[in-house]
Amino acid sequence: MTVKAPTEPAFRLPLSVPLLAGNEWAYLKECLNTGWVSSVGPFVDRFEREIAAATGSPHAVAMMNGTAALHLALQLVGVGPGDEVLVPTLTFIAPVNAVRYCGAEPVFMDADPVTWQLDADKATRFLAKQGERRGEATINRRTGRRIAAILPVHLLGLACDMDRVLECAQRHRLPVVEDAAEAMGVRFRGRHVGTFGDVGVLSFNGNKVITSGGGGMLLTASGERAARARDLSTQAKDDGREYVHHAVGYNYRLTNLHAALGLAQLEQLGRFIERKRRTAQIYADALGDLEGVTLMPSPPHTEATFWLYTVLLRPGTTVEARRAALDRLDEQGIEARPLWHPIHSLPPYQGCQAVDITVAPDLHARAISLPSSVGISEADLERGASIIRRTLQSY
Ligand SMILES: *Cc1c(COP(=O)(O)O)cnc(C)c1O
Repeated sequence: MTVKAPTEPAFRLPLSVPLLAGNEWAYLKECLNTGWVSSVGPFVDRFEREIAAATGSPHAVAMMNGTAALHLALQLVGVGPGDEVLVPTLTFIAPVNAVRYCGAEPVFMDADPVTWQLDADKATRFLAKQGERRGEATINRRTGRRIAAILPVHLLGLACDMDRVLECAQRHRLPVVEDAAEAMGVRFRGRHVGTFGDVGVLSFNGNKVITSGGGGMLLTASGERAARARDLSTQAKDDGREYVHHAVGYNYRLTNLHAALGLAQLEQLGRFIERKRRTAQIYADALGDLEGVTLMPSPPHTEATFWLYTVLLRPGTTVEARRAALDRLDEQGIEARPLWHPIHSLPPYQGCQAVDITVAPDLHARAISLPSSVGISEADLERGASIIRRTLQSY
């Protein structure tokens, strides 16, 4: 009797891993050669300038990660203890946690069934019904708390409908913090996401469109807010020599090493986006005619980058069936992932207000994100797409 050893499949398509094919080595070496390795240095300045240029944001402030940038972004628009912030329930958890870091409470909003992004119409209806204007503030009638901001998240390399979000925010005079962590390179009506609201945030985590190892960027048109972000992210010191601090600051600044990596990646952004779009096309061609499968949307006015190409299994698919499909794909070397668990039903946030949420759990049950790494060859993508096609046919 022979015992079959468990074998790794030879063919393996990773979900989203970095491609380090540019000046990464050269720039990192420059840091080591010059001794500029820590939280100030020429690459930090260059990275900020180049991100500002790439996004059209008047100011860009580098942070050690996107979550830290979100924390400061909320503070910059005045979110504080006891406030409420409107957030989507379908998102990576970081922006919701950032609300809690400020001592504020999230109010969960549903996803749009077509675009999968924050449903701004439901948010508008909620505010019309439950928001009460008192002086400069919008108060939640039911809780008595101030609704202090709205935090749209541009998911998966698509864009929220910023026309609707801004209209809703302006009507209720809410500041907007945009989470564009997954949306480097995405434009809505020709304008880079993260530059519509009061403050925007990018992430350069290892699985994002470009990576600095770890890192984030705070975008703002306000010079005053940018200065405050710099100040708060470097311990809020009045006087560096005498250790005089004027507020509770943070150590949130990006290091020169990380910025060096990020800059080298940014130089390749155009190519990466081309690869993401080509990947989307290959998957759409391979899966478009599969009965029951819904392709990733291409929302109007949006130049998408398809950070993670995602499809929906047929309506009525259960979480268990979707899990089984992921297992089947994994056995064949396809690293696919579900969307995030709706956050209003996770332990830290159970009991928070969740407004008319019907779409997000359905998307969570049915969605599968497919391998979208920019370094996958066209031949491997085609091969992967046909494996995915065969597998999904039975779900
Ligand atoms: C990755 C991500 C973040 C957090 O960014 P980090 O740099 O990992 O802290 C925030 N929001 C969304 C939607 C993300 O996908």
